Amino acid sequence: MNRVTILGGGPAGASAAIAACGEGSAVRLIEKSKFPRHKVCGEFFSPEIAQDLDRLQVWDAFVAAGAARIRRMILHFGQRDKTCPLPESGWGLSRHAFDALLLDRALALGAEICRESAEEPWVIAAGRRTAGLCRGRRLFGFKAHFEGPANDAVELFFFRGCYAGVSAIEGGRTNVCGLGPEDFFKRFDFEYDAVVAESPALASRLAPLRRTMKWLSTGPLQYGQAFNSPHERYRAGDTLSFVDPFTGSGLLAAVRTGALAGVAAARSEPVSDYMARCRASLKKPFEVAGIFRAALDLGWADWLAGLVPGRLLFALTRPH
Ligand SMILES: Cc1cc2nc3c(=O)[nH]c(=O)nc-3n(C[C@H](O)[C@H](O)[C@H](O)COP(=O)(O)OP(=O)(O)OC[C@H]3O[C@@H](n4cnc5c(N)ncnc54)[C@H](O)[C@@H]3O)c2cc1C
Repeated sequence: MNRVTILGGGPAGASAAIAACGEGSAVRLIEKSKFPRHKVCGEFFSPEIAQDLDRLQVWDAFVAAGAARIRRMILHFGQRDKTCPLPESGWGLSRHAFDALLLDRALALGAEICRESAEEPWVIAAGRRTAGLCRGRRLFGFKAHFEGPANDAVELFFFRGCYAGVSAIEGGRTNVCGLGPEDFFKRFDFEYDAVVAESPALASRLAPLRRTMKWLSTGPLQYGQAFNSPHERYRAGDTLSFVDPFTGSGLLAAVRTGALAGVAAARSEPVSDYMARCRASLKKPFEVAGIFRAALDLGWADWLAGLVPGRLLFALTRPH
């Protein structure tokens, strides 16, 4: 029986483990953190996730965990709003619940988990890489959960070089997650209540809500993709490519590339074949996201808002 060792037990690593177990492999997962745990994330799942989770046989558990249905997208640029219905419902579920349910499924299928291992992992799903970033201009992310009236929209607020996403998760709670430049957050001593107050539209959205946990922060964040680089091992999730979170498709990419990596490793397929599959699914939407990110960095958010229909932006940044 082929043995598959995976570094990282987040969505990509756990999906790889489930898929490799499905191929009859003995699976070892190396994960340094104790689950369940909170993680900085917008916790928005794009509609296509349903098929991917169904293939891993965790869709029922996802729904049973109380995932909230997200039917609309609202973009707030300064004084302007754009609302559009999503072509199909997206979903909201905390990473606290989601990552644990994937890992539980892998364990139930016989995967073993350990904190470290002398064995060389062949699937690398250890999250984002952070090398080579300039201090000050680096991006950081923040998030907290709130209670109070929830709605069925994923709302994105763009302000002062930052953006924040607001959307419902399980239990009628709302997740607020944003990112922005380190220099800007430093001015507020990384006090995120003060940061969100910088956007009048966001401040008024949050006014009826009450924060139920401390703000969590993560960074530095570096976007990038390595779809064309030669690799010796199967890289999956953010280790393979970290897409700008405004697309809301990082989790889908992690689950999809993780599952492909698990199958490829179990069958000892050439890494180049695996990479070709990842490219076909993800390269184009990731490139489009890169163009939008560059426009945001140049302060063209208002111009973009006038020009690009929200529905088109959503469609262009979806994986195939
Ligand atoms: C601010 C922000 C908002 C986001 N919002 C969204 C969103 O709304 N929707 C969406 O789809 N995506 C979003 N994303 C992207 C999403 O969070 C990632 O794409 C997703 O977490 C990738 O999963 P992963 O398994 O590749 O990595 P991770 O979730 O980072 O998991 C990696 C795992 O590897 C473990 N690990 C790392 N190194 C080691 C080691 N040496 N030994 C053992 N274990 C190790 C870590 O503990 C971790 O559990 C957002 C990201 C950010 C930063």
